[in-house]
Amino acid sequence: MSWARERAAVAGENKSALLDIGRGRGSGILAAVRHYLWLMIFLAAAAGLADQPAFAGQASAQQPPPAAAPPSPMIVLDPAHGGIDTGARGENGIVEKDIVLAIARTLRAELERQGFRVVLTREADTDPSYDDRAAAANAYRYAILISLHIASTGKPGTVRAYYEQFSTPLPPPASPAASPAAAQARSATPPPASLLPWHEAQQPSVAASRHLAEILQLELARSFAGSPAQPTGAAVRELRSVAGPAVAVEISSVSVSNAEMLTGMAAPLALAIGRSVDAYRAGSVAVPKS
Ligand SMILES: [Zn+2]
Repeated sequence: MSWARERAAVAGENKSALLDIGRGRGSGILAAVRHYLWLMIFLAAAAGLADQPAFAGQASAQQPPPAAAPPSPMIVLDPAHGGIDTGARGENGIVEKDIVLAIARTLRAELERQGFRVVLTREADTDPSYDDRAAAANAYRYAILISLHIASTGKPGTVRAYYEQFSTPLPPPASPAASPAAAQARSATPPPASLLPWHEAQQPSVAASRHLAEILQLELARSFAGSPAQPTGAAVRELRSVAGPAVAVEISSVSVSNAEMLTGMAAPLALAIGRSVDAYRAGSVAVPKS
């Protein structure tokens, strides 16, 4: 019920109560007040239930988290590419930008079922800038960004995890929106460490991201036979501007004959990500951003 309609309903009660007074019966006001109070209690209770974290319902079925565990991170899923940037294309019509969005939606549902909070950097066939994607994660005090890609090569059904490696030269900008800033940043003199440019925001988190990628890659190797045991360090533009743990996940590949061979990997991928985030969280101390 909207606030305005609620007010109107209460006003209606008061009107009838006043009519009651005119007939010499004061109990109408009490009834209206009682009705209003019950309504407020009901609304407060409903609001309280709505504020409960999604994992509250599962708390009794799972081990309670240790008291010293850092807060549960916001998982920011980044379906790469989008819009005019299709990403990789397969001979059988598989388009990377569409598959990563479909997988991200399933991952969100599955991870929320596990009790995680999840947001996506894009909900439709759009192509947010690298900075906008990073900003979706940087908006949270404690977030983990996972950028999703489909490879053009590799053994179908395998999955690789990547972390940012700054020693690798910046690749040519793939997104027009990112190119002027990237070009400007490359020509600029290095600023003080406290004033890291956007495209180097990942720098202080490289070790954390690598640690998360190592945990994740082991889980991926368990879930998807043939996947490597070690993650790969590379220049991944989606990760560079993220001021917190950030990894990329690349599924092989667009060469499969049927899209469901890829989208069907989302549920086991969600389990691997959930286990990895839990393990990462249990073994790390949260460092809140200043
Ligand atoms: Zn990609």
